[in-house]
Amino acid sequence: MSVIEKRQSDKAIALEAQYGAHNYHPLPVVLSRGEGVYVWDVDGQKYYDFLSAYSAVNQGHCHPKIIGALTEQAQKLTLTSRAFYNDRLGEYEKYLCEFFGYDKVLPMNTGAEAVETAIKLGRKWGYEKKGIPDGRAKVIVCLNNFHGRTITIISASNDPVATEHFGPFTPGIVPIPYNDLEALEAAMGPDVAAFLVEPIQGEAGVNVPDADYLQKAHAICKEHNVLLMADEVQTGIARTGRLLASCGNCDCPEKNCSGTPDVKPDVLILGKAISGGVLPVSAVLANDPVMEVIRPGNHGSTFGGNPLACAVATAALEVVAEERLAEKADALGRLFREKMQEIIDDTDLVRLVRGKGLLNAIVIDDSEDSSTAWEICLALKENGLLAKPTHGNIIRFAPPLVMTEEELLDCLSIIRKTLLEYQQS
Ligand SMILES: *Cc1c(COP(=O)(O)O)cnc(C)c1O
Repeated sequence: MSVIEKRQSDKAIALEAQYGAHNYHPLPVVLSRGEGVYVWDVDGQKYYDFLSAYSAVNQGHCHPKIIGALTEQAQKLTLTSRAFYNDRLGEYEKYLCEFFGYDKVLPMNTGAEAVETAIKLGRKWGYEKKGIPDGRAKVIVCLNNFHGRTITIISASNDPVATEHFGPFTPGIVPIPYNDLEALEAAMGPDVAAFLVEPIQGEAGVNVPDADYLQKAHAICKEHNVLLMADEVQTGIARTGRLLASCGNCDCPEKNCSGTPDVKPDVLILGKAISGGVLPVSAVLANDPVMEVIRPGNHGSTFGGNPLACAVATAALEVVAEERLAEKADALGRLFREKMQEIIDDTDLVRLVRGKGLLNAIVIDDSEDSSTAWEICLALKENGLLAKPTHGNIIRFAPPLVMTEEELLDCLSIIRKTLLEYQQS
């Protein structure tokens, strides 16, 4: 790296430090271009992206089909608000409902908004359909969840960094341990409207529950007339080797399996990759008996369902189907964990690899608050691969799903080399 180039990335970092709120702690790399599984920094250095913007870029960076839809629609109509109809929204809603097998969708923008929407929907359904006395509705959530950053959502968080000095919090939230059916059963009752759960806890470190957890949780919910609300913002859209992680192990990896999924959540929450990382697009899907409690004026968003988002999200989902990304994620994920296990066997540095599809994590064999994972990520960056620790000693590995087998093997050799070098240093 030349001195001038070094100055360029230093300058970008210094500007953020001076003018931006310090609400993130990024890896020191300044990116200026992306294509497929690769990103380039301002110095022209090329990297494998092994985070995919927290699984928003499943379709790869700047996918030509999605960018084509973006630029085409951007020249026609971008925003009408919902005060008027637009010619894209209905088509998009139909496409989305058929793609995932639901009666209706409520379009929003960010993942947090979609979760917030689901909580509102769940509560309203609880009062109007289940007959919960007004003001008493409860939503069960899981410990170590990540559902976003709004006040109500952090009211469901037990992460002190995310919650400290942000109170008072929203009442009516009941936390239980993840992957614990007994705790779920015990938390049930006449005032419970919904159970909000991630099929795999991504931010918490790719915690994969028992294979039948969601299915049994759904049965408990049904028994107590409680809505199962699956937050698939990170796990959805092919990431875990199925169209949705709640599809579980049903054997139709490449296509819409809304016909015979293991679990069909009563409320499905999507975000991130629904736009291929091009625009903030999110959605809440449910069938009519649930969604019909929402009437004009109850909820909305100026940008939700805008024509640009509709065009982009439709193209992004078409890419998922056309390029069989769920199937690819399933096959590549198996290869990744197999080869990663071989690396683990050759080093004392890593305790285990876990995950599903191409949502995986390794746990560094160290205390939870050590800086080893961070240092390994810095070393991976030097070797041309970008990943980020999640929760102390855990590194999440989530490359774009458009990766080829050859590229994945190349990445694995970078990871092997980096870990072995790190161990010797
Ligand atoms: C990222 C994420 C969210 C929040 O999405 P934003 O677009 O950042 O608001 C919610 N739930 C899960 C599981 C996520 O991974």
